[in-house]
Amino acid sequence: MRIVLVLRQRKFIYFGRYRHRFDLSRLQLRTSHAEIEGMPESNEIEIRLHHLRRSFYEGRRERVVLDDVCVEFGRGESIAIRGRSGSGKSTLLNLIGAIDAPDAGQVIVSGVDISDLSERDRTLFRRQHIGFVYQAFNLIPTLSVADNIRFVLELNQVKGQAAAQRIDELLVAVGLGDRADSFPDVLSGGEQQRVAIARALCHAPSVLIADEPTGNLDDGTADTILGLLNELVRQNGSTLLIATHSLRVATSCDRTFELHGGRLEELSSGGDDA
Ligand code: ADP
Ligand code: MG
Repeated sequence: MRIVLVLRQRKFIYFGRYRHRFDLSRLQLRTSHAEIEGMPESNEIEIRLHHLRRSFYEGRRERVVLDDVCVEFGRGESIAIRGRSGSGKSTLLNLIGAIDAPDAGQVIVSGVDISDLSERDRTLFRRQHIGFVYQAFNLIPTLSVADNIRFVLELNQVKGQAAAQRIDELLVAVGLGDRADSFPDVLSGGEQQRVAIARALCHAPSVLIADEPTGNLDDGTADTILGLLNELVRQNGSTLLIATHSLRVATSCDRTFELHGGRLEELSSGGDDA
């Protein structure tokens, strides 16, 4: 009960309470690339956004945050999403990460049309296919470093010795092999973000979403974290999406996009400052 409360406060939306196995076959039945007119079928495309629209209401006034966004991101690509505060970066990432659903259009991730799933199916999809890293790290303060990772592994049915081995491997990979029993509050910001990266990758997600991951870190630590994130994501073969204000972060990615006035535009050369 306590954990659930902590999770709600900290907006750990992707840790649902359900323990059902994710029924991929059922979800895949709902999706067919052929349903989407004019889109070539390709194994190399990890994410397709098709005429995506999301708006919010302020009283009776509609505020369109994403307006007819169409784009494809390849498997294993690293993508920077730039844009001013309030331009819709988090809204876009929440749609791709199956946290939110669009008003119109489709979000296809790893071959599954997630735009039309029930809340419960979105939770299951998210748990298996998506990893998240946030600006505020979002570790669970009452759990040790190892248990923060174990928690996600257990949601994915990885337990016991297999979980212990995976935790060791990940902590060594992020340079925290000796901090398994530490609690988040004794770690520096950079160390907490390393744990968050290990946790985000523990179930080998096909998509890793990082929403302003270096926003709370000094420049030197940010560079180290970014290098680590890119390296581990490449090893895992995940597609990486990073929302950022930072030009430096954007230049480390394969492609850079900018959100402006609800539209998503690819910048001509990666990381060009607008
Ligand atoms: P960014 O991440 O680029 O700073 P966001 O995606 O968080 O921008 O927000 C884009 C716009 O959508 C903002 O004007 C914000 O106030 C609005 N918005 C985001 N989420 C909600 C929500 N759940 N309800 C109402 N408005 C929202
Ligand atoms: Mg944001």
